[in-house]
Amino acid sequence: MSADGALIDGAVLAARVQQDVAARVAALKARGITPGLSVVLVGDDPASAVYVGSKERTCLELGMRGETIRRAATISQEELVEIVDRLNADPAVHGILVQMPLPKHIDSDAIVRRIRPEKDVDGFHPVNVGKLLIGETDGFAPCTPAGVLYMLKAHDVTTAGANCVIVGRSNIVGKPMASLMIQPGVDSTVTICHSRTRDLGEQTRRADILIVAAGRAQMVTREMVKPGAVVIDVGMNRIPDATKKSGTRLVGDVAFDEVRTVASLITPVPGGVGKMTIAMLMANTARAAEQLAQ
Ligand code: NAP
Repeated sequence: MSADGALIDGAVLAARVQQDVAARVAALKARGITPGLSVVLVGDDPASAVYVGSKERTCLELGMRGETIRRAATISQEELVEIVDRLNADPAVHGILVQMPLPKHIDSDAIVRRIRPEKDVDGFHPVNVGKLLIGETDGFAPCTPAGVLYMLKAHDVTTAGANCVIVGRSNIVGKPMASLMIQPGVDSTVTICHSRTRDLGEQTRRADILIVAAGRAQMVTREMVKPGAVVIDVGMNRIPDATKKSGTRLVGDVAFDEVRTVASLITPVPGGVGKMTIAMLMANTARAAEQLAQ
């Protein structure tokens, strides 16, 4: 008999966040403010084009202003800086997002640092990274880890005192996820693992909450998970699948079918964390507009 863990449904929770954002947008509009997100897309990477398209579409659905500024991959650093400066100064723009990755000849860090922290709804500017770490709540947390924390809270997962093990230490997922989980009020005991971690399974088996963001298809297997653990799979990997028209399918970093039999709660891929990321971006943009209007 299998006692599969319950699913955390990203679509349902993302819809809940977006409903709340739509109400906040309506309140702002009643004050004559239409929250606006400007996304800068450089080059013609198809995956980036898909992400950017859905960001713009979601903005419009929620009553916000959404624009995408498209530029060729040959754009110079100076031209890109000029665009960011113009958006920084534009009172109709509340959120600015420069879609990564940028072409190799562009200094991405310098571009991120150029965005006004008050409009940095991706939460990648060092000022927002610092605010997250020291627990100042008027900054912006990166959308994917913020979405994960929202999912845990929505399912009443006990975070206080829990052993939270995070696999991955990137600046966009692993590190900010750790910053969120150690904040007072969340109160987890956090372990961060990476490619140099000795005996990964020994670490992951200690997790009450296991968050995986390694970008390695189905690397977390059943024997690496403590029975009853909450498992959050951030990974998005394409693997060959001859049964699909595209010849590939999307899988997470967790071997879902087997881990589901030991986890108490688990996110699917697709339909899990991915759905939350755009919802949290919308929430950050609404808050940027509220804070800039103060
Ligand atoms: P990343 O920058 O490539 O970082 C991956 C991290 O995982 C690194 O810290 C790496 O360690 C660690 N790692 C890799 N292999 C490992 C192994 N075998 N054992 C232990 N640690 C290992 O990736 P990312 O940007 O954080 O993204 C991670 C995954 O999440 C990707 O699949 C990405 O597509 C997905 N993602 C999803 C969303 C969403 O909205 N759902 C958003 C962002 C990212 P080192 O630092 O030592 O190299």
